[in-house]
Amino acid sequence: VRALIDARATEYSDKPFLLSASEDGDGGTEAGSAVTFGMLRERCRALEVSFRRAGLQPGDVVSVFMGNGMQTATLLLGAMYSGLIVHPLNLLCQSSQLRYIVEHSDTRMVFLCDETFDAIAPICAELQDQGATRAVALVRTAPDAIEMPALPELELAFREAPAAIRAGAGDEADTASVSNAPCEATDIALLMYTSGTTGAPKGVLLSHRNLLANARNISVEHRLGPDDRVLASLPLYHINGLVVTLLAPLYHGGSVVMTPRFSARTFWRDVAGFGCTWINVVPTIVAYLLNGDAPRGFDLSALKFCRSASAALPGDHHRAFEARFGIGIVETMGMTETAAPVFSNPYEPARRRIGSVGLPSGGEAKVIDREGRECVANEPGEIVLRGDQVMRSYYKRPEETAKAFTADGWLRTGDLGYRDDDGYFYINGRSKELIIKGGENIAPREIDEALLRHPGVLDAAAVGVPDPAYGQEIVAFVVLREANGAGAPGPDELRAHCLRELGRYKTPKEIRFVSELPRGPSGKVQRLKLIAPAPG
Ligand code: ATP
Ligand code: MG
Repeated sequence: VRALIDARATEYSDKPFLLSASEDGDGGTEAGSAVTFGMLRERCRALEVSFRRAGLQPGDVVSVFMGNGMQTATLLLGAMYSGLIVHPLNLLCQSSQLRYIVEHSDTRMVFLCDETFDAIAPICAELQDQGATRAVALVRTAPDAIEMPALPELELAFREAPAAIRAGAGDEADTASVSNAPCEATDIALLMYTSGTTGAPKGVLLSHRNLLANARNISVEHRLGPDDRVLASLPLYHINGLVVTLLAPLYHGGSVVMTPRFSARTFWRDVAGFGCTWINVVPTIVAYLLNGDAPRGFDLSALKFCRSASAALPGDHHRAFEARFGIGIVETMGMTETAAPVFSNPYEPARRRIGSVGLPSGGEAKVIDREGRECVANEPGEIVLRGDQVMRSYYKRPEETAKAFTADGWLRTGDLGYRDDDGYFYINGRSKELIIKGGENIAPREIDEALLRHPGVLDAAAVGVPDPAYGQEIVAFVVLREANGAGAPGPDELRAHCLRELGRYKTPKEIRFVSELPRGPSGKVQRLKLIAPAPG
């Protein structure tokens, strides 16, 4: 990452890299400011000096617990530039999860802002009281401003760090050696925790090589270049936001329009106002945008495509979005373990396939059966991956790491699916969530989607529960559009609907109405929690 930042700063010194979108009414950032590639390198260099003065050495972990903004982006890149391992913290983690992750990460320093201070400060204090072997310094950065606060302000924050951190520095940081800091491609640049959809989040270690492989891959796959501009509306604490909307533009010399968070209200205005050429969304955002107003009066002519990843995009939403907004969606699939994408639909609209995650992208993929043999086309099994973007291991979880790879070194995605005759891949669901009824494999997603086709259903998730006769039976959890409305369907109506759509075997034995489905900090449905015994 360091070499890349240096190269871009030389090549595109005065070209804007980060632009700031406005968020009116929220007291957020003001539009109009920019960080050029040249400024980025200056800030990274200055941060490196500050990091060394604070006593941080290459390989140390620093956490960033801040919302999207230019300062956050610069910090993330500056830490990588300095050979540190940067660890973005998810703003939506609940306190128990946050505590687990902060403790497990062995972080040395946590950057926070006013909004996140209350959530994290007690956790760090508690860890220190318990005699954590390493001191954790809290660094309060100034609220995100138009400009990234001048670096002296960051240094000021360092000076407020606990003595333990400062002591390590020695009084005279050797700034001469700083610029020669070794940074190998195989060095770890990022520690990022998985979404915790199927269990406790796992810390994924990604090297500079892993990250750059995908930054390049995304740029090539989507044909991006220095004239391209993306709206960064996904959080930088997810692999998708970080690699796709920050590192890929760094790779192809494009620009990133920073927004504090996704907002349906300002989305189209920012896309049009900044002349964005591409956008990066998740299926939840597609649903929000479909619910919102059409972007009337905005000039979206620069927009070439919309990329979607992170969870399956329902085919109906895919088609509705394209019809309504006239923008094609490129569906892709990625994982934290693979520094984001491993599959992508082709750039040419005619070659894209709705419902498919596309073709292997930047690496190799195959489907294997339970014995590890490669499946033939259209035969279902588990998808496994190999390539430069694939992690080597989880952080301090040797057993999980061992389970994550096949004997011959392919990463097991835990995703079930198949490859069609033309090499396109399809994902039906996750192995941990598979329902096995009477020896028959049933992907819960098929049942969810059938339920979602009923007009009264807002959200649905099917799960397998123990059953004496069949081994497992199907229970579907349903959120109604209008729970108390006169026309709200009852369980019998929904089961009859499923019978028509799915046949008897896949029709849920029971429908349970809930007010919402449990979701993890990435917004993904935690299906297994629906049937897990209540904690305590
Ligand atoms: P955990 O591993 O902690 O249970 P997670 O797998 O949800 O959580 P992430 O690394 O954020 O954590 O997500 C990767 C997973 O997201 C993939 O393994 C896959 O199941 C799912 N996914 C991503 N993109 C798509 C897509 N386009 N279609 C279907 N599933 C997708
Ligand atoms: Mg996973």
